[in-house]
Amino acid sequence: MGKIAINIATGSIQKEEIIVGIDLGTTNSLIAIVRGDTHEPIALKEIDGLTLVPSIVHFDEYGNTTVGNPAKELLIAQPERTIYSVKRLMGKSYKDVSTDAGFFAYHIIDDNTDALVKIQVGQKFYSPIELSSYILKELKKRAEHILKTTISKAVITVPAYFNDAQRQATRDAGRLAGLDVLRIINEPTAASLAYGLGAKKGEEKTIAVYDLGGGTFDISVLTINDGIFEVLSTNGDTYLGGDDMDNLVARYWQEDPGEGNSDLGFGSSIDKTLMQQLRVTAEKAKIHLSNNDVFESEINGTPVRITRQEFNDLIQPLVDRTITACANALRDAGIKKEQIDAVVMVGGSTRVPLVKESVSKFFGRDLYDKLNPDEVVALGAAVQADILAGNNTEMLLLDVTPLSLGIETMGGLMDVLMPRNSKIPNKAGRQYTTQKDGQGSMRISVFQGERDLVADNRKLAEFELTGIPGMPAGLPKVEVSFLIDADGILKVSATELRSGVAQSIDVKPQYGLTDEEVEKMLLDSLTHAKDDIKIRALVEATTEAQQMLDTTENFLSKYRDQLTQEEVETTHTRMQILREAMTAKDKDRIQHETEILNDVSRPYAERVMEGALKDAMKGKKIM
Ligand code: ADP
Ligand code: MG
Repeated sequence: MGKIAINIATGSIQKEEIIVGIDLGTTNSLIAIVRGDTHEPIALKEIDGLTLVPSIVHFDEYGNTTVGNPAKELLIAQPERTIYSVKRLMGKSYKDVSTDAGFFAYHIIDDNTDALVKIQVGQKFYSPIELSSYILKELKKRAEHILKTTISKAVITVPAYFNDAQRQATRDAGRLAGLDVLRIINEPTAASLAYGLGAKKGEEKTIAVYDLGGGTFDISVLTINDGIFEVLSTNGDTYLGGDDMDNLVARYWQEDPGEGNSDLGFGSSIDKTLMQQLRVTAEKAKIHLSNNDVFESEINGTPVRITRQEFNDLIQPLVDRTITACANALRDAGIKKEQIDAVVMVGGSTRVPLVKESVSKFFGRDLYDKLNPDEVVALGAAVQADILAGNNTEMLLLDVTPLSLGIETMGGLMDVLMPRNSKIPNKAGRQYTTQKDGQGSMRISVFQGERDLVADNRKLAEFELTGIPGMPAGLPKVEVSFLIDADGILKVSATELRSGVAQSIDVKPQYGLTDEEVEKMLLDSLTHAKDDIKIRALVEATTEAQQMLDTTENFLSKYRDQLTQEEVETTHTRMQILREAMTAKDKDRIQHETEILNDVSRPYAERVMEGALKDAMKGKKIM
């Protein structure tokens, strides 16, 4: 069987251009590139020496923004003006987040529970997309300052479980920040890439990615086969992370600052500021204990102390919960521990020795933990960016379709078989049938794009399925199937299932779109969404009306002698009126007139069919 070969990769990009990789995290965000000289991915460091930018945006009373560490310092003093964890709100409605509303110290608008959430700061309202764009703008600014060149293209990572709305929101945030988002990739995929896992041609691996960040825990099981990543399962806890460890230590000190100090306790009713001081010091203690056995400091003159063993005892239940999630993820993926080829450690909290030990023990193997766990996702995004820039031809990576793929159906409508952002490789199929009695062929036209009318999309290929044996309309079953292989090549075939007649076609590859074209097509689909819905409704009504007219015409020519003169006349009048409505392109009138024509013809059609049935029965001998 032949095939249509279409390279759906998003087109070529100039070599000289730097494409950055961005980890837009719940707690921290950062930007990375692959160095042109050494081909190593590196996280970009500003003069402050830090690579991580806390994902926090502060608004002053004039609406000016500060992002990162300066904003983090205002978290306690101005909670209603300092926005954190905005990633949790991406692509969500108030209904989606209402159960977690207590988590946010800032104001989330709840007037329209189905619409996407808005955050109120002073008199102004901000969407999570806008808020994220401030973080991205800050990252872009940093990169431009460090690299001394403008940055306009990026690869951004998202959790593997992000749905289409959340991915789209992330993409939009990038666009708002002035970034062309070439690809949204999964965080666990990026982490694996940073370690160079499985991106070589022909390599096959099963990987577990354990990601314990500031406020979230994700475990993902992936396979990589010939450069194609597939997420087999995800599990975790959206409210479990390093912050919880800090809280445990803070509460521990609240009751007892340390051995022998219990009479100096902070008491149960401490104010917000003191609690926050406790938390800040607790985080310091946790980080210190990752490399030392004891932590000692003081808070407001009260000495505080904690040992690694005490800390381990506190967090043991948290760690146990992550291990249970790992077991569940393996079960869902249908994978045994022994089948895992690599366990990749991601997120700042995996620096905690007890975490490493527990994960290593559970999987029974060494961990991939040489890279900075809080940088590894951004590093992987940079590797992906480098591949897209055409600098790395060794690795092959095509994980999603940039635009929807479908075929033309009656009335020039786009029928999507494989939606945008479908995983590659992929298979999709749908059955169609004929419109006319005895129809011997069917034209299959393949399109790419988001608009409802194929005329507004991009035609990729066309072929004719011929040799369909004569059958009444609606009887043939034509299965059209799309198959995208690991190389991103689309093969289209059509088979009439009753007769087995099959057809396919070869089209030369290199049908790539530039990113600008993809963006334009997506934007068009947004701006024209309303028109498209209207046009689609009109086309559908017209198609239905035409079928009604054809059927009626057919019936009249066969059974006219069995109808009264009046029935024939009324039918002709109604058919004429319906045709006029179709010429006027008035959807409501067309639908209304189609119904009337149906009502007019139904009584005599039933009568005639009943008569025909009786005649048939009469002729039969019933034993
Ligand atoms: P996210 O992915 O949620 O944005 P990160 O991966 O940056 O978060 O992880 C942030 C968390 O990592 C914070 O809770 C921070 O305290 C913790 N962390 C950072 N360094 C260490 C360390 N050395 N030991 C223990 N925890 C650490
Ligand atoms: Mg993270």
